[in-house]
Amino acid sequence: SRGAGFCSLTMSGGVRHSVLETYFAPLGNRPNLAVRVNALVESVVMDATRAVGVRLAGGECIEARGVVLCAGALATPVLLRRSGIDRPGIGTGLQDHPSIAITLALQRRQHSAIRIGANVRMSSQKGNADIHVLSLNETDESGMFGALIAGVMRVHSRGEVKYDSITGTGIAMFNQLSDERDKEAMRDVVRFTYALASSQSVSSIAGSLLSDANGTSAQWIGDATDSEIDDWALRQVGAYSHAACSCAMGNSRDDMAVVNERAEVIDYQDLWLCDASILPTLPRANTHLPVVMVANRVSEMLLETLNESR
Ligand SMILES: Cc1cc2nc3c(=O)[nH]c(=O)nc-3n(C[C@H](O)[C@H](O)[C@H](O)COP(=O)(O)OP(=O)(O)OC[C@H]3O[C@@H](n4cnc5c(N)ncnc54)[C@H](O)[C@@H]3O)c2cc1C
Repeated sequence: SRGAGFCSLTMSGGVRHSVLETYFAPLGNRPNLAVRVNALVESVVMDATRAVGVRLAGGECIEARGVVLCAGALATPVLLRRSGIDRPGIGTGLQDHPSIAITLALQRRQHSAIRIGANVRMSSQKGNADIHVLSLNETDESGMFGALIAGVMRVHSRGEVKYDSITGTGIAMFNQLSDERDKEAMRDVVRFTYALASSQSVSSIAGSLLSDANGTSAQWIGDATDSEIDDWALRQVGAYSHAACSCAMGNSRDDMAVVNERAEVIDYQDLWLCDASILPTLPRANTHLPVVMVANRVSEMLLETLNESR
């Protein structure tokens, strides 16, 4: 499958809308809702296997009937470990979409209110709708550069968020392109992106194409071997800021699953996860909407649970 179009943006009235504006603003002032800003959670307070509150970095404890952790795929596993939650799957399975830029040095200064432009979605030789090219406007303040981002969207490589129990902190290792299937897909999308960047229409706005931040011409990609592309890709690959899958949802009998199908941390009580960490596999799409869907579904299930326990 192959297709192209403008990227859909979460906008209303020409202005980008955040989750905060979309979900919180309509709630207005409610006596049963308090939002604490700038409140860094240090750990979940546990009574044996039951979550009973959170401890803030300043030492303050907030008691609660239950805790829903949603600190994102990089911080949630660290918070769980720091709280003494012990499941082997915590932090494992981390994924992101590997991406590489071919930079367009533009002939004329460009200005665009929207950084993300169009998206081309297609299939690698062995995959199905598994790679894409994203166009970016204004990759720096000069307005003289843009980029075509080659992205692998069906990801097999997995890394981890490693926890250091001495410092109580975590380090994320994505291991991007460690799986041969991702490397192959990356070769295909790099070659396609280079062909697109060299096309007549793109050449009419881009004076030259660059393959790194040192200003190296990207011309070599035109007749590069597989191993030349692999070497370059391993040096240049970056994350897409779509970190996910570090506390995967799965069957309660699976040791590596962290939450069950109701997003409850397995073997613990009154503790739920609700963020990108619980996705078992990274979707073949940018992750904002999938995470919003997770939040909608988990909040419905929480409501059911609370109603049942009334
Ligand atoms: C720069 C950038 C651009 C992106 N652009 C797009 C895009 O265009 N389209 C798209 O689909 N996706 C995009 N994404 C990805 C998307 O934003 C994420 O996948 C999504 O926000 C993940 O949601 P989450 O709830 O898992 O985590 P987050 O949105 O990261 O939310 C976690 C929250 O927890 C807070 N937190 C962490 N630790 C603690 C703690 N100890 N105490 C208290 N609070 C804590 C964090 O500050 C954060 O507010 C982008 C991501 C980034 C970083």
